[in-house]
Amino acid sequence: MAKITFHGAARTVTGSKYLLEAGNARVLIDCGMFQGPKKLRERNWQPTPFDAKSLDAVVLTHAHLDHTGFLPRVVKEGFNRRVFCTPATSALAELILLDSAKIQEYDAKYANKKGFSKHKPAMPLYDGNDVKNTLKLFCNTPRGKWFSPAEPIWMRFHDAGHLLGSNMIEVEIRDQDPPLRLLFSGDVGRYDGPLYHDPAPPVDCDYLICESTYGNRDHPKGDISTALEEVVQRSVERGGVMLLASFAIGRAQQLIYLLQLLKKENRIPDLPIYLDSPMACNATKIYRQHNEDHDLSEGELDEEHPILAGPQVHLTRKVDESKALNHLEGPAIIISSSGMMTGGRIVHHLKRRLPEAKNTVVLGGFMAYGTRGRRLQNGEKSIRMHGIKVPVRAAIETVSGLSGHADRKDLLRWLKPLAKPRCVFLTHGEPDGAEALAETLASTQGWDVQVPDLGETFQLE
Ligand SMILES: [Zn+2]
Repeated sequence: MAKITFHGAARTVTGSKYLLEAGNARVLIDCGMFQGPKKLRERNWQPTPFDAKSLDAVVLTHAHLDHTGFLPRVVKEGFNRRVFCTPATSALAELILLDSAKIQEYDAKYANKKGFSKHKPAMPLYDGNDVKNTLKLFCNTPRGKWFSPAEPIWMRFHDAGHLLGSNMIEVEIRDQDPPLRLLFSGDVGRYDGPLYHDPAPPVDCDYLICESTYGNRDHPKGDISTALEEVVQRSVERGGVMLLASFAIGRAQQLIYLLQLLKKENRIPDLPIYLDSPMACNATKIYRQHNEDHDLSEGELDEEHPILAGPQVHLTRKVDESKALNHLEGPAIIISSSGMMTGGRIVHHLKRRLPEAKNTVVLGGFMAYGTRGRRLQNGEKSIRMHGIKVPVRAAIETVSGLSGHADRKDLLRWLKPLAKPRCVFLTHGEPDGAEALAETLASTQGWDVQVPDLGETFQLE
């Protein structure tokens, strides 16, 4: 008899951790960190709800922190078996986890200095050393090939089209005939999204574990490349620099890809693009190496316009290269992180570019409350940065629609070919989104749908 326990991403969108048990095997699918409001982040500090040493394997759908960020903690607690994922996932996870350890260590140091932590001394959830020990366990596994993380559990990866290296996981529990079949959707990507393939069709299964991030919402209509084209053209007319705020991994590469395509189709001039974020530069290098995930059907790029590269695409890693961009005259494009402008190199660029009306600052869609991005979106006339009030005279534009997540419409399209499973578990969604999708699937398909609570266990038979 098999069972599944939802140790994360249950009625929330972060902390993905699903413990699958069958025979004597205990396999964890994803090992994500809880992110967002303090109440959620505190869950990372509660005692881990399973014995890390008892796990036979961890299998990762993709590299995002909410799917991998707790793994070094589990390793710190004694897990030392294999971690299965695609080669691109392991390359991106290395970047993401090392960065996460750095943030953890910095936060602990800061809390100790200021003395505001309940814990004396404040400790990081894990450090760089724990991440190094974690990376040693990674076992690169290609898509489409069956592997067994622990008998009698067998698995196979299929492209989820959500991030470089991202997968859904087909599972067979082979201690019965016919085997019990499960499908973990991972994060489902979008149809016709830039750079990635469409999500692979779902395989028939007895139990489906499906994300529901956008279970009750659709992305704004309209073509992202046309929106970007228009924003670039307006920026060129203004004559200044166009500053694009972007997440370092995934979004930045999609933006370069779209800009390169627009150039190739002569829809925008051949402007120089500066990618100014060490993490985004490293991620771009990984994207260039793993072109098996690139969907070029939108318009093949050629030697003169290679994907994510070319004479006009500059990766600025060093601090002095970044500072030199202060002297850059437009028209030109700077892509920098962080996406919501809460920190990172973009803050320096904002200080330099916001006061001049010829410049353009482009926000990438949703900006969380309290961030500089939200303040600019709200049309505030000045923004405080490094203790100085900086006037906002630059044009503020928004290009939305670059989410890597399937929306409600995409999820329903993805689920359509699936034969009725015995039960569907909806995870990775706020209660509103998950319950709305549950209701839709129950009423239109007649499916039995559950929205599990955190820590809830279900027998699979
Ligand atoms: Zn994701």
